[in-house]
Amino acid sequence: AYVITSPCKDEKAAECVEVCPVDCIHGDDEMYYIDPDTCIECGACEPVCPVEAIYQQDLVPDEEKEYIEINANFYK
Ligand code: SF4
Repeated sequence: AYVITSPCKDEKAAECVEVCPVDCIHGDDEMYYIDPDTCIECGACEPVCPVEAIYQQDLVPDEEKEYIEINANFYK
């Protein structure tokens, strides 16, 4: 799955929400999160994020790795 990381917190730009073909990006007051069980890894969201907050799960930088679980937990 793809993962949204901390830069989204100051941004919440929502371009990703508009391009996702399976509607698996939803948010709260703080940021957006990707549902890992629904994401088809199409990659459409990554280049449209203006703050480069989105990574394929295996490519999330070490300092942002906690967001893999934070994204998943939003959907539990
Ligand atoms: Fe949606 Fe594709 Fe991004 Fe997954 S990779 S969240 S399916 S736009």
